[in-house]
Amino acid sequence: MTVELAEQPANLELPPRQPLAGRTCLVTGASRGIGCGVARELGRYGATVVVNYRSSKEAANEVADTITTADTEGTAHPVQADVTDRDEIETMREVVHNAFGPIDVLVNNAGITCDRTFANMTADDWHRVIDVSLHGTFNCTQAFYDDLKTADDGRIINISSVIGKQGNIGQANYAAAKSGLFGFTRSLALELAGSGTTANCIAPGFTRTEMVEAIPEEVQDQLCDEIPLERFADVDEIAGIVRYLASEQSNYITGEVIDVNGGLDL
Ligand code: NAD
Repeated sequence: MTVELAEQPANLELPPRQPLAGRTCLVTGASRGIGCGVARELGRYGATVVVNYRSSKEAANEVADTITTADTEGTAHPVQADVTDRDEIETMREVVHNAFGPIDVLVNNAGITCDRTFANMTADDWHRVIDVSLHGTFNCTQAFYDDLKTADDGRIINISSVIGKQGNIGQANYAAAKSGLFGFTRSLALELAGSGTTANCIAPGFTRTEMVEAIPEEVQDQLCDEIPLERFADVDEIAGIVRYLASEQSNYITGEVIDVNGGLDL
């Protein structure tokens, strides 16, 4: 077989200063932590960002204000919805569509932990975690599926976790939810492939947010000792990967799990 090589253009033009200008990106659970960092990063690169929050209205307003008043083309708008509540998501969809039209990028970031060894885990512990991380991702993706499928370079970016790959003592619920996202993402990547829309997961390792600050300090130290890079990630180190996946530079990546874990898997 002879492979025809396409003529390679000399790509010497300067990249656009705001590569995400004109893109509408919805980030769930964006009032703090990784979601807040992602919202800011997308705004910094020119996107219109929907800052979804469940109950922290003031914090979400602050995130949106910071993005809008920064010296970029990015703007942001807080929109309330609990990702486990399909009625609230439907209302969020209407609000977003009325204000901005269809979205181009969905970042399913909202997640919780409710840690307990399996012997002590209640059905409620199990359901709460699965409801937010897995059902919440299903709910939001379904609500915005038509937008994402018809968008130019549509994107679904699911925030999973290294725990979804490795498991962890006391986190059977969280590990199940986060590894469930891998299969979900791969299936959507295949179903959407013909449309040019991609679906990918990011699997962060331990990242400095309130979720990790809730871990007792001595346990944090033990965790750090196990990380080849000897530190937790900064939020910006996760947000930068989301921004890359949201951009057209990632057009040929789909169905992947991108590890950002300081070498925990090595
Ligand atoms: P966080 O607790 O600081 O933030 C989670 C956000 O999700 C909060 O804003 C919270 O209000 C929101 N949220 C929770 N339930 C919600 C719901 N029902 N509807 C809407 N929003 C809801 O946690 P984080 O560390 O920023 O984690 C963000 C994501 O990254 C989570 O999915 C988490 O599992 C994942 N993650 C975090 C780490 C880490 O070390 N911090 C590592 C791997 C993966």
